Amino acid sequence: MKFNFMSFFSNDIAIDLGTANTLVYVKGQGIVISEPSVVAISRTDRKVLAIGKAARDMMGKTHEEIEVIRPMRDGVIDDDEIAELMIRSFIRRVQRNRLLRPRVIVCVPSGVTKSEKRVIRDSAEYAGAREVHLIAEPMAAALGVDLPVKEPVGSMIVDIGGGTTEIAIISLSGIVTMHSIRTAGDEMDESISQFIRRNYNLLIGERMSEWIKCNVGSAMPLTEEITLTAKGRDLVSGMPKAVEISSEEIREAVTEPLFQIIAAVREALEKSPPELSADIRDRGIILTGGGSLLKGLDQRLRDETNLPVNLADEPLTCVVRGTGMVLEDIDSFQELLLDNN
Ligand code: ADP
Ligand code: MG
Repeated sequence: MKFNFMSFFSNDIAIDLGTANTLVYVKGQGIVISEPSVVAISRTDRKVLAIGKAARDMMGKTHEEIEVIRPMRDGVIDDDEIAELMIRSFIRRVQRNRLLRPRVIVCVPSGVTKSEKRVIRDSAEYAGAREVHLIAEPMAAALGVDLPVKEPVGSMIVDIGGGTTEIAIISLSGIVTMHSIRTAGDEMDESISQFIRRNYNLLIGERMSEWIKCNVGSAMPLTEEITLTAKGRDLVSGMPKAVEISSEEIREAVTEPLFQIIAAVREALEKSPPELSADIRDRGIILTGGGSLLKGLDQRLRDETNLPVNLADEPLTCVVRGTGMVLEDIDSFQELLLDNN
């Protein structure tokens, strides 16, 4: 990154407002925050108790007085007030100079509505932004993996996040076709916890099922199948219990959400204009987002589509890096912003 004298004083920031994680990039510095999009509030007076990692650590361990909320959970803002608190808190955390009002670019899931965009803009302005721009997640992801988004070639991005999977074909600075489904990492966690409840009478928490998914979850048979110990509460006795779970079982557990993701990719391919289909046949699909780290997912998609499939480097940071590229050189990326709607 070239050193720019002005950026030394700048507070300008790029934010990836994800359904699972929020990342913040500061101009001239790079990624400075990467935390879960989670807020813990007190139920009685709705005061914020914690935001980010600290709030996530409270998940499933709270008492009646505390509520832990993921305001972006399904790719839409389900609680304006909490989303606003979270956005403001992350912006304020990186502001070095309160007098220099920052330019802020926020990357949003492409399903957000006009009024949700308003909430995001307002929150950033309220936090002190002098200028707020929005960019669609697949566009930012495409930039983050260095796809030639301004050229007349079609590129397909599949971003599997927490709440949503976004499938987009990008060409000539625009999103040609766009598909967003509310099946991604969270659904896999949910399917795992249901599977374990049904088969072992064991109730496990959200974080335990996510941990199981990340450690033994897979989309293809593994060369060496593995097992781990799942811990939770026995549904019958009510006592703490631990059971051994194998990667084969977890693969069975995530069949349905995986099927939905694959079906959505197929559908997007079927709907793509013929000229771009030819490009995608040659160039393949790029996978981004944390959900794409599921073991064997890239191979599974390769088998299902017969196309080249590439897992991005550092899939969890592609979107914020792409948004950061726009921030570093906003004049050359102006046409990629969602500023008029
Ligand atoms: P978002 O952009 O929606 O905030 P992210 O791109 O940050 O989502 O990805 C978060 C999702 O990725 C979560 O569901 C998380 O469980 C999942 N994830 C992270 N690491 C892995 C892994 N190694 N294997 C499977 N899923 C993973
Ligand atoms: Mg994301």
